[in-house]
Amino acid sequence: MSSMIDLINELWFLKRELVSDDFDKALHRLAEEVPMTIHEYPSGTPVWTWTVPEKWTCHEAYLETLAGERLIDYADHPLHVVSYSLPFEGEVSREELLEHLHAHPRLPDAIPFVFKYYQRDWGLCAPQTLLDSLTDDAYRVVIRTSFDPGTLKVGEVVIPGELEESIMLVAHLCHPAMVNDDLTGVVVGLDVARSLLEGPKPKYTYRFLILPETIGSVSYLSHNEDLIPKMIGGLFLEMLGNDAPLALQQSMQPDSQVDKTLSAVMPGVDANGFVGPYRTIISNDERQFNAPGVRVPMLSLSRVENPASPKSLFEPYPEYHSSADNPKIVTQERLESARSAVLAMLQAFERNQYIVNKFKGEVFASGQGIWIDYKVNPEGHRRLFEIMERCDGERTVADIAAELEIPFQAVWEIVAQFAEKDLVSFSSAPQPTSPRR
Ligand SMILES: [Zn+2]
Repeated sequence: MSSMIDLINELWFLKRELVSDDFDKALHRLAEEVPMTIHEYPSGTPVWTWTVPEKWTCHEAYLETLAGERLIDYADHPLHVVSYSLPFEGEVSREELLEHLHAHPRLPDAIPFVFKYYQRDWGLCAPQTLLDSLTDDAYRVVIRTSFDPGTLKVGEVVIPGELEESIMLVAHLCHPAMVNDDLTGVVVGLDVARSLLEGPKPKYTYRFLILPETIGSVSYLSHNEDLIPKMIGGLFLEMLGNDAPLALQQSMQPDSQVDKTLSAVMPGVDANGFVGPYRTIISNDERQFNAPGVRVPMLSLSRVENPASPKSLFEPYPEYHSSADNPKIVTQERLESARSAVLAMLQAFERNQYIVNKFKGEVFASGQGIWIDYKVNPEGHRRLFEIMERCDGERTVADIAAELEIPFQAVWEIVAQFAEKDLVSFSSAPQPTSPRR
């Protein structure tokens, strides 16, 4: 069994495009680590309003001076060619070349990640420093790419639970030669899946999907419409290995139980963690799950430098979408803490139920041995009573945490004590106990 960082070192430089041989290679390698079903959707298959794209291959590509000096070469780095670039061969003026040669807006020494999946055009990418050095009148461009019928692949790891209700975990694998975005989400999800498979049978069923961004989610969802009503929540994973605090983006339904639970777990897993509304931190496959006709509350977990800034959507960390997003910017320790955070969130969601009071009136706390002396611990004393008075069969653990703006764990500790004293029971549905409502 390979560690998360070993898998990153092994797979990061592959040319993982939407539908491509290297995507398949990476997915098959990951399938050696955990039991996985690989779903295949042939190019041209209609998937809701979309169509599965062709397989794209770049056989060779370079930019040369007319004297034959090679300036950039696809063989050196996969990001030198725009993903899904049309083939092109010929001599071009410097002006024409610059319309097709892309640089990173902020990192002058890095190659940018540019993709033109649906606006067909040819293109190359290079560091800004190279663009600045181009003084000849004309250059020679060679881009030998092909578009062939292929099959889009979606890897699915199922962890069967006692219930058919499922929690979706999703990560994309289609970013060539980059690490934090997107391989870290894949390996963290994989390690979470391995932990769940090793542990006792969970209450919910978990489905972890590894797919090409957007089109992979649409392909899977459109072919599994019968599963959608059973999807009670989800978490998209990406950008989890860099040195930044965790940022949890809520779903389109911030009042859902999954939103309330995961949000209330954050303070306990990262003291600097951030929770923000839908579409304010990052934008990925969670959109397809939250979209009309699906409406699964899917949150998203990442490490983002300034999650409160509107810039986070385009610049979540400095090396984003560039050749600088390489194994140097991620650590096993960061990956492990992200993995623990995800597991803590899932454990909390497994525990989250309606709390049904078996008691009436205020519990005689000292008689039950749960008294907290307000002179010693005034905060704990207040909490005990604030939580107790909300145990009424109408609120879940997460509802109480959200209402009191305290961590899930703080509520759970008290409620677990009540359960031990047989003062409360748990229910998956509300069971109001108040005669007058
Ligand atoms: Zn990306």
